[in-house]
Amino acid sequence: MPNMQKEKHPMPTRSPEERRKTFGEVALGYDEETAVSEAERCLNCRNPLCMQGCPVMIRIPEFIRKVAERDYEGAYEVISASSSLPAVCGRVCPQETQCEKTCVRGLKGESVAIGRLERFVADRHNALSRGKGDRAPHVSNGHKVAIVGSGPSGLACAGDLNRLGYDVTIFEALHVAGGVLVYGIPEFRLPKEIVKRETDNLTENGVRIETNVVVGKTLTIDELMEEEGFEAVFVGSGAGLPRFMSIPGENLKGVYSANEYLTRVNLMKAYLPGSDTPIRHAKRVAVVGGGNVAMDAARSALRMGAEEVSIVYRRGEEELPARREEVEHAKEEGIVFRLLTNPKEILGDEKGEVKSISCVEMTLGEPDSSGRRRPVEKENSLFSIDVDTVIMAIGTSPNPLIKSTTKGLETQKWGGIVADEDGRTSRPGVFAGGDAVTGAATVILAMGAGKKAAAAIDAYIKEKHAG
Ligand SMILES: Cc1cc2nc3c(=O)[nH]c(=O)nc-3n(C[C@H](O)[C@H](O)[C@H](O)COP(=O)(O)OP(=O)(O)OC[C@H]3O[C@@H](n4cnc5c(N)ncnc54)[C@H](O)[C@@H]3O)c2cc1C
Ligand code: SF4
Repeated sequence: MPNMQKEKHPMPTRSPEERRKTFGEVALGYDEETAVSEAERCLNCRNPLCMQGCPVMIRIPEFIRKVAERDYEGAYEVISASSSLPAVCGRVCPQETQCEKTCVRGLKGESVAIGRLERFVADRHNALSRGKGDRAPHVSNGHKVAIVGSGPSGLACAGDLNRLGYDVTIFEALHVAGGVLVYGIPEFRLPKEIVKRETDNLTENGVRIETNVVVGKTLTIDELMEEEGFEAVFVGSGAGLPRFMSIPGENLKGVYSANEYLTRVNLMKAYLPGSDTPIRHAKRVAVVGGGNVAMDAARSALRMGAEEVSIVYRRGEEELPARREEVEHAKEEGIVFRLLTNPKEILGDEKGEVKSISCVEMTLGEPDSSGRRRPVEKENSLFSIDVDTVIMAIGTSPNPLIKSTTKGLETQKWGGIVADEDGRTSRPGVFAGGDAVTGAATVILAMGAGKKAAAAIDAYIKEKHAG
């Protein structure tokens, strides 16, 4: 008999008071009994709507049934047949707008906590298999493939190609592999040890990761293919170029892009005592934007010791694009939400340092092309907020470096690489996926794109050699 409890089991978390002072993980994970009891809430539907909400079609009822039967390794096998990064996705996927949104239990209560169960299964597997290596040694098929970027798309593509026997080398511009998972998403949401485990798994299985290599500068895609013997290249270089608002004052001291701020904190470990990474120890911070990036920047600034941190967002609560859970966590921690507020200018003192941000109040008009109600400025509503730091989190786009250094690679006007469903670009042998193609999106979509491209690369190389 299923457990007909209406609410999902709550996720144990650190208290907000403790969280404000630590980068330790906020959500602590289900214990075994809670996981089994939650799994028993699943009705094992004949037509599982949850799967339709999952971008990589994880066989959700099957893995949940295995949790209910306490066959956790069986559950892990089911998940990992579709997902390369379950411990990551169980933590950061927006389940509330995907699998959990379509779960039938959500009709008369709360959906099954699919994401929390995924995390439970992955963490349990990782704890038990630590140091054991995941699979048989790599047997090379003699064909070389290069991957540009080590974010979720590149890691997923590399993992699948490695399994198929390809000699895979990932070229990563930064000194640590993981993409946004290491430089963007903070430790308190995604411990870096988990990402390291995923990249270690790949290298233990024969994938080479060359860090500090900027493709387009250190070497080009043309050189990789024409001189280094790579038969195909997957571009998973993400969308790391920050946007600014083009308002006066954005070049004052104390204005950061969220990418720069988070990179200093996460990747360069500015939060550790004695770190050499320079960072402003701000007192009053305004973070402009309402997505996950804005929440991460705001909550990081708070943990870095700021006394007041505000989210400044031009639409309302309903329209906040960040995950609901992250918004709730941010509120609990004391982040101030200044909604329907739009910055006009950042003002500085005589030393060129930020001293305030002036904003206008907004109201919501008719829906725009995105379906969200368009924010409209209220007349005579200018006011200012005293701040010493402003963090811009209003979006990013792909860096133009790859496009400008690769012959025959088509891109969209806004910089996204043009690629079909399976990642094929305008240049034969060059495939692309993830944020580099779609613009800033999600981990699961990037991972799914990497997996599709791996299958297409395999077909491309086989076809080339069949003729
Ligand atoms: C702060 C933040 C929070 C987020 N939170 C969430 C969340 O909660 N849930 C969610 O699903 N998604 C979230 N996202 C979005 C998600 O992380 C991205 O959609 C995903 O990481 C994209 O993966 P990717 O592989 O396409 O690129 P990335 O993860 O961006 O990785 C690209 C990699 O390529 C490298 N690179 C770039 N150019 C070159 C070059 N020329 N040569 C060599 N290497 C290069 C970069 O250094 C980087 O390591 C968040 C993003 C940010 C920034
Ligand atoms: S829709 Fe919900 S109840 Fe039905 S199989 Fe999926 S998780 Fe279980």
